[in-house]
Amino acid sequence: MSFVLRSIRSSVRVVPRVSVQVPSRAYSLPLVNNGKALSPEAKASLKGSDPDLKDIIEGSGNWAAIMRERDPDFFNRIGKGQSPNYLYIGCCDARVDPTVLMNLNYGDLFIHRNVGNLVTGSDLNVMSAIEFAVNRLQVPHIIVCGHYDCGAVRGAHKQMDHGIIENWLRNIRDVARLHNTELTKIPDSEDRHRRLVELNVQEQCLNILKTGSVQRLRMKSFKETGFATPRIHGLVFDPAAGELKKLDVDWKGETKEFDAIYNLYPDPDVNKSAFPKNLN
Ligand SMILES: [Zn+2]
Repeated sequence: MSFVLRSIRSSVRVVPRVSVQVPSRAYSLPLVNNGKALSPEAKASLKGSDPDLKDIIEGSGNWAAIMRERDPDFFNRIGKGQSPNYLYIGCCDARVDPTVLMNLNYGDLFIHRNVGNLVTGSDLNVMSAIEFAVNRLQVPHIIVCGHYDCGAVRGAHKQMDHGIIENWLRNIRDVARLHNTELTKIPDSEDRHRRLVELNVQEQCLNILKTGSVQRLRMKSFKETGFATPRIHGLVFDPAAGELKKLDVDWKGETKEFDAIYNLYPDPDVNKSAFPKNLN
């Protein structure tokens, strides 16, 4: 992680904030209230120091100039299309910025984020992202990344009604129910929270594997190469420590009991199960 931090510091250090021509702000919509432009006082009262997004537009222009200088073919290349290596499914939390914290290159990730990094079969959004990533982009890896101090996980572990978001958080309550025996044995509430974060990531990984298109591709690739893809990885980031870790899960042990329920493509010639011995 120290390497990551060094990389971030060095990238921040080289950004020239004033020396690059900034693109026109013609694309920026004016801040208005009932059809009238906001007064300077009203603008100043808005939260944040950049109500017109001036810094953001300038920063993007600076970034583009730096990228052109480092790699003159960069925009020509990415203009032709994306070719990410990973589908990343993570939480919306602002502290968990995947490309930065994993020290990846621009364009390495196909990203889907939602509150609590959930994968539910009834969510057309995440299911569309998975379908597109595995079928069209043919990503070889799917990452589910949770994080400690997750507000969604904390909320789902409280005896209170969160209103409309409760319908979403109930998916995490279901994870807590599945693992209630283990969780209730953990005396410290913060340790219990951290374990539920990990179990939530684990269950979302399994939810991906319940998906027909993922099973189909894994079976197909296993038949052709002896190696099942896409591979599925569960990660957890600790914002307070700046540490990213891979979950150590006995996937076969976790799925064995339910193979007969979720196995959509029974094929004794391949593996006797759509849930192969290892997810990754
Ligand atoms: Zn979160």
